[in-house]
Amino acid sequence: MAWVLIGLGSNLHDREANLAHARELLAARVEVVRTSALYETVPWGYAEQPAFLNQVLAGETALTPLRLLNFLKKIEAQMGREKTFRYGPRLIDLDILAYDQLVIRTKRLEIPHPRIAERAFVLVPLVEIAPEWVHPGLGKTARKLLQEISTEGVRRW
Ligand code: ADP
Ligand code: MG
Repeated sequence: MAWVLIGLGSNLHDREANLAHARELLAARVEVVRTSALYETVPWGYAEQPAFLNQVLAGETALTPLRLLNFLKKIEAQMGREKTFRYGPRLIDLDILAYDQLVIRTKRLEIPHPRIAERAFVLVPLVEIAPEWVHPGLGKTARKLLQEISTEGVRRW
């Protein structure tokens, strides 16, 4: 079994219900061990859109990284996520933040997720559930990475 960190985000319709629904569907292939609180985040990238609710889960899975990615995409599609544009509004966004201590850099899949270190809406919930997790590319704990950025715009929901 692999240890994985998964990031969830939603900023359309009933955001809390969307996250709950995604967690239910995830449970088919990921045994969730730790669940952060929900955090509300002022939109990032493209600002003219509703605020996001974000959450991070830690758990175990037997899926390989690519199969896990495909599983997450299937859930996004099943929940009716429509393609908009990068950083745009979405019903559900599921990201593999980390997979054991693997580093993968391919066009389809990058692990750890490439923007962890700059995103307070990922690091705040991540530190809540796994402060001592070491980013295998950067060699720093989640706690240390969070100390290096501003948490402005992220608040516990
Ligand atoms: P983002 O999450 O960056 O806002 P999308 O959810 O639209 O954007 O994802 C775009 C693509 O990112 C996906 O089709 C997927 O192939 C790719 N991707 C690369 N690395 C990861 C990862 N660690 N987790 C999820 N998707 C990833
Ligand atoms: Mg995504």
